[in-house]
Amino acid sequence: MNVETARSISASTASEHFDVLIVGAGISGIGSAYHLTKQLPGTSFVILETQESFGGTWLTHKYPGIRSDSDLHTFGYSFKPWVGPPIATAAEILSYMGEVIEDSDLARHIRYKHRILSADWSSKTSLWTIDAEKIDSGERVTFTANFLWMCQGYYRHTEGYTPEWPGMKDFAGRIVHPQLWPDDIELADKKVVVIGSGATAATLIPNIADKCAGVTMLQRSPTYFRTGRNAIELAEELRKLQVKEEWIHEIVRRKILFEQDAFTKRCLEEPEKVKKELIGAISAVVGPDYDVGTHFTPSYRPWRQRIAFVPDADLFQSIKSGKASVVTDEIERFTKDGILLKSGKTLAADIIVTATGFNLNVLGDIDFVIDGERLDFSKTVTYRGMMFTGVPNMAWVFGYFRASWTLRTDLVADFVCRLLGHMKDKGASKVRVALRPEDHNMPLLTWIDPQNFNPGYVMRNMHLLPKRGDKPEWQHSQDYWTEKDAIPATDLDDKAFVYS
Ligand SMILES: Cc1cc2nc3c(=O)[nH]c(=O)nc-3n(C[C@H](O)[C@H](O)[C@H](O)COP(=O)(O)OP(=O)(O)OC[C@H]3O[C@@H](n4cnc5c(N)ncnc54)[C@H](O)[C@@H]3O)c2cc1C
Repeated sequence: MNVETARSISASTASEHFDVLIVGAGISGIGSAYHLTKQLPGTSFVILETQESFGGTWLTHKYPGIRSDSDLHTFGYSFKPWVGPPIATAAEILSYMGEVIEDSDLARHIRYKHRILSADWSSKTSLWTIDAEKIDSGERVTFTANFLWMCQGYYRHTEGYTPEWPGMKDFAGRIVHPQLWPDDIELADKKVVVIGSGATAATLIPNIADKCAGVTMLQRSPTYFRTGRNAIELAEELRKLQVKEEWIHEIVRRKILFEQDAFTKRCLEEPEKVKKELIGAISAVVGPDYDVGTHFTPSYRPWRQRIAFVPDADLFQSIKSGKASVVTDEIERFTKDGILLKSGKTLAADIIVTATGFNLNVLGDIDFVIDGERLDFSKTVTYRGMMFTGVPNMAWVFGYFRASWTLRTDLVADFVCRLLGHMKDKGASKVRVALRPEDHNMPLLTWIDPQNFNPGYVMRNMHLLPKRGDKPEWQHSQDYWTEKDAIPATDLDDKAFVYS
């Protein structure tokens, strides 16, 4: 019995049909639904979401201080002005998304507590059959859709990534991953060690420093940070002049993007100078006697990993005040009372927080089958990180690492709406991307060039990800400044698009 036959036996016979099925009600899924309603009114669609509400990342993460690390003028949607301080809390982001849902009457399209288990494509019917499980009852429900819009994010929401260290079972205290922050955690009088040096550690530490007996950031190697006031002077000025919020949003977006572009170029052209500036800004807060050489001087050039913004330098203020400290060392093993380091030093701890990252979930942990064959995503080639060879009628939203994720959500949404409109004009029920004759000898490379960008969750899972070629259209470039022109200019009648 092949996979398709087995599935059709297990699936319920009754199914609901939609033109488009959107996976996930995070910032990407809600944004995509907005664009669909505005650009292709009348298209029937449903959003299926595992969780009990919208928000994705901003609903899942509940650790103290949870906030964005990029500004909300660019992390917010192009179509909805952001009127608060640029760095926003999860609650503020959820409220902003809630307004989008209400203003555009999206709630009636969302089915919460529906986990999609499988997606089967049939070329005979030109349909996806989606099998989902209702979280509360375990009941299986089936949907069919012409087009699948994958807005599943990039990591598994039910678990964080925690490496296995020797002796973890011996530790007498509590080990917590920030992604699953417990309600009942008591910090008062506790010694806390936070393992990690990314945005999560940088946010969490100043937010618990006053509540516990002491907090130590334990990092294997340092990370770059940017600091500054959590305000955009231009926005404040324009507000004083009573300029409309729509205009302020657009002007401030352009300013931020312009400055980010210039900064990215500087990171490539004069990395040493940028490095000195970033570290100098930290030194200015923690003082000249602090060992920034050991704790805040990364070995890689700026921008190889995302640079978190630390508003009002709160992490560094906590370090300066002595409430927080940094240890740069490696873990030998956990002990009953804390952590033994490779240097031989020990760190006493009552609570250990593993801010060690994510487990990538490439396609929402959905089991994909194309015409009876299980999809091996790593055997596909990406078309600009949006479509994949051998996978018809499907688009994938994967945002930017270095610019705001949502800039790409908006770009991909415009592309998908244009593609769906083009299919309608052509009378096509199927579209897929395929290598053209001139692409057949193209070298196939890893999804992302590790020399360009190499965060842990990508490096651990590169073998699961699609391949890229050596031409711009067969790459997922992660470069907003190229894609903002290239994606809208895509010729939908290029030979790479095959319609039937
Ligand atoms: C703590 C934190 C802070 C961040 N800060 C920033 C920032 O400041 N700027 C930035 O650009 N990026 C940031 N990011 C990256 C961030 O995740 C993205 O920017 C963005 O929120 C992702 O949105 P999304 O909707 O694509 O995915 P997610 O937020 O991951 O949402 C995906 C949704 O899909 C649902 N889903 C997945 N699989 C299934 C399935 N099989 N069936 C049904 N539903 C499913 C999930 O439940 C989830 O709700 C941050 C990430 C984290 C973890």
